[in-house]
Amino acid sequence: MLNKKHIKSFQKILPDGFVLSEPGDCWAYGYDNSKMHVMPECVLFAESKEQIKNILTYCYNNDIPITTRGRGTGNTGGSVPIENSIVLSLEKMNKIIKIDTENRLAVVQPGVINKVLQDALERENFFWGPDPSSQEYSTVGGNIANNSAGPRAVKYGTPRDNILGLEFVSGTGETHKTGVKTSKGVVGLDLTRLFVGSEGILGVLTEATLKILPLNNTVKTFELTFSSLKSASDMIISLMSQPITPYKLEFIDEQSVGLINSIKKNHYEKNTKAAILLEIDADKDYINAQSNKLYEIMKQKKHIKIQIAENKSEVEELWKARKSLSPALRALGGYKINEDIAVPISNLTVLLESLNEISQKHEIRIVNFGHAGNGNIHVNLLFNTDEEKNSENAKKCLEEIFDLVLTLEGTISGEHGIGIIKKKFLEKEIKKSTLKLMSEIKKQFDPKKILNPNKSI
Ligand SMILES: Cc1cc2nc3c(=O)[nH]c(=O)nc-3n(C[C@H](O)[C@H](O)[C@H](O)COP(=O)(O)OP(=O)(O)OC[C@H]3O[C@@H](n4cnc5c(N)ncnc54)[C@H](O)[C@@H]3O)c2cc1C
Repeated sequence: MLNKKHIKSFQKILPDGFVLSEPGDCWAYGYDNSKMHVMPECVLFAESKEQIKNILTYCYNNDIPITTRGRGTGNTGGSVPIENSIVLSLEKMNKIIKIDTENRLAVVQPGVINKVLQDALERENFFWGPDPSSQEYSTVGGNIANNSAGPRAVKYGTPRDNILGLEFVSGTGETHKTGVKTSKGVVGLDLTRLFVGSEGILGVLTEATLKILPLNNTVKTFELTFSSLKSASDMIISLMSQPITPYKLEFIDEQSVGLINSIKKNHYEKNTKAAILLEIDADKDYINAQSNKLYEIMKQKKHIKIQIAENKSEVEELWKARKSLSPALRALGGYKINEDIAVPISNLTVLLESLNEISQKHEIRIVNFGHAGNGNIHVNLLFNTDEEKNSENAKKCLEEIFDLVLTLEGTISGEHGIGIIKKKFLEKEIKKSTLKLMSEIKKQFDPKKILNPNKSI
């Protein structure tokens, strides 16, 4: 239990209303999309770098564990406080400090919502690459901490590929500045990219300098259907082996096809066993030439149908079907385990066929869809009861899936991170001596282990 003296000290550091200590006020800051919930000892809000520095210095001097929170949309318990932790919410630190199109950069505070930034950039005909599906709610700080990205990562990458520098406060209360404001730079160790994806265990991000890009003004969207899983994954491989990089390349398996058809009658033909959504972006003067080239490549591969969306409403209609999948899963079973594994795309066929075998063996319904261009598939295990979800059979099934992914040279998390939920599987992917090296690095940033304790590594 946090001593009342500490709460009083935080009230001295922060303005009125920036410290919550009543359980009713703190409750909403104790969960994320993993559905885990732990009541925070208290919740602090900060709106300046100075306040964050003062909070962390106090926590360091008094051995108080602290969990940083963006908007709590994470899937792995990353912002859920554990071990009598307090929560530091950055939702008030939400300013876009600068958009500098000449130098192709934007400087932002960590609590700015991804979509708010994208809208501001769009007004200047620019964008920031990372587009997680949660972009209406999640913060740039959370995106950076989890290295989160969405469909267009196949062409424009993740936060790690779209960041120039950052400022953060470490677990000792010291402030640090990393990276550059130029598109090239090679001085010192690359702490910027070490921080990206570190899930709040190395410091509290207080400012980020992001690499931004000019928007292409036209997109063209294709929907392709297939009578077998193999023809779909063969198509993905051939699309990734040619020079026009897709803007988005999404895969939908047979179960997902059935789900979409149950919502939108006859969206797919009866014999459809898999589908792909492909989008390209280009300047309007080039888009037709590019889509014609792609169409010629697609035609040569086995498929049932290639449909091209010609206008904005047709494009929206195609994406509506893909976006309906996550909510539709709930209709199949109230309980799910949602994994986000990734494999090299040349191993997609084996992965998807083996997932079907694992599903039959364990008699667990598994629905697969996701960002095929990155080999990043959302593997959804569906259950009717909480008991089934927590059964030995479900655990064995999950272990088998992770073992399969690692045999195929993949990773157990393409985008959601480790947090609390996946920690027990970490040693499957990273060997002990390497994990030890990572812990030694963490110690340099956070010697008293007060930052997001027991998460990630
Ligand atoms: C409907 C839905 C769709 C989603 N779609 C995607 C998707 O397409 N792609 C994807 O990758 N993820 C997706 N996610 C997961 C989630 O949205 C992302 O992980 C997101 O980046 C989290 O942002 P947040 O602001 O909610 O951070 P939080 O969940 O609050 O925190 C996430 C982690 O970041 C740390 N953190 C937050 N801010 C800071 C900071 N300033 N300094 C240091 N550490 C910090 C936290 O401690 C925690 O470990 C989705 C989630 C939902 C609910």
